[in-house]
Amino acid sequence: MDENTLTMTPGPTAVPEDVREAMAKPAMNPDVNPEFASYYETLLDKLARVYGTDDDMVVLGGEGILGLETAVESLVAPGDDVLCLANGLYGDGFADFVEMAGGNPVVHDIDYTEAFDPDHVAELVESGEFATATMVHCETPTGLLNDFDEILQTLQDAGVLTIVDAVSSLGGTAVPVENIDVCLGASQKCFSSPPGLTTMSVSDAAWEKVEATEQDGFYTSLAPWQDADFSFLPYTHLVSNLYALEASLDRILDEGRENVFARHESAADLCRKRGEELGLSPFPGSESLCSPTVTAFEIEGQATDVQRQLYDDHDILVTTGLGDLEDDILRVGHMGYNATETNVETTMDALESVLD
Ligand SMILES: *Cc1c(COP(=O)(O)O)cnc(C)c1O
Repeated sequence: MDENTLTMTPGPTAVPEDVREAMAKPAMNPDVNPEFASYYETLLDKLARVYGTDDDMVVLGGEGILGLETAVESLVAPGDDVLCLANGLYGDGFADFVEMAGGNPVVHDIDYTEAFDPDHVAELVESGEFATATMVHCETPTGLLNDFDEILQTLQDAGVLTIVDAVSSLGGTAVPVENIDVCLGASQKCFSSPPGLTTMSVSDAAWEKVEATEQDGFYTSLAPWQDADFSFLPYTHLVSNLYALEASLDRILDEGRENVFARHESAADLCRKRGEELGLSPFPGSESLCSPTVTAFEIEGQATDVQRQLYDDHDILVTTGLGDLEDDILRVGHMGYNATETNVETTMDALESVLD
């Protein structure tokens, strides 16, 4: 791994030079430097613009999983029924967090290649007394992007709070944040920042639930962040990571959100087209389910070998599947800064020569 390695993984993604340099700036002391509060406010403002929301923003010091656990711990009261929509590994995983919080997960799991049927979900919502629902926008391990527009509307109409893991789609494609109560992101995916920060939008309804829910934890609770005084945050923030995140957000805002989304779309289109030419099909059942941020190709029993050869012989880093599908899925991340047609072309040329 060096400057020349082409990192095409679906997170952590390649970090551009200006973001790395921002991270090396002299670090403010958040509790002492009088400039910190206004710096932090500006950062959250930029984050809200990238999210495309007026909701409050919270940034936690910790990798993306911290956000998943914190959102569930903070919003799920013991005994709450929680609808967990699952068509992938992360969707399944939410149920474990719900149990840890003392809630009752009701898992609606469908095949990992399929989309949710909004009518079926509406029936489920009607048949239960759900306080909250959890779901995953982009299932990174299988390259599947869910369209939740109708489902989110149903849940909102029924007064069910929504926690959406958009860790691997936020900043790379449009996310319906306005209809989500807690929308989770992380620095190391489409933002192209180093791992270390969790981001989330929190709606007014979500804050009300946080207040109404007894919080056992501190580090995994949103309560200390409600109306937090920016000159005296609940704990010392990861200042250098904040600098990096700000530089990443600036890049997205300078390029323009729509342009960034279009760049991901065209990289993904090219990736699938080149794959098709090599006889590889994307894992999700239909093309309309394929994520613009990551492509998962079915490549039975070969993924580990191919992944290693791409790195050893071509200095290109991609990744395999997860869990049972480790050796059957090869994943190309076109996520963040490296999501360009040129990089996808280089990657697929190398893949072609490895498969030969
Ligand atoms: C990357 C990712 C996370 C964060 O957790 P990891 O420790 O990097 O796995 C959470 N959810 C999704 C969908 C992700 O892609």
